[in-house]
Amino acid sequence: MVKTCCICGFEQSAMSPDLVFHSTPKDPVICKQWLKVLKKENGKGLLVCSKHFKPENYRQYCKKPLLKKNVIP
Ligand SMILES: [Zn+2]
Repeated sequence: MVKTCCICGFEQSAMSPDLVFHSTPKDPVICKQWLKVLKKENGKGLLVCSKHFKPENYRQYCKKPLLKKNVIP
């Protein structure tokens, strides 16, 4: 299955190896904030690409780009 950003519709491809796709947060409170921003009812299967996050939203010490808590697109 191709990962597609639910905001800009961008698809993961070989052209965008730096792009990371984030699924909605497990925290129900933060997830609700995401859904509000994304104007979606259900966060299941939703992905947001890293273009919608600022560099400071990421935890720098991880190899894999991980978003900090309380971050919304
Ligand atoms: Zn996007």
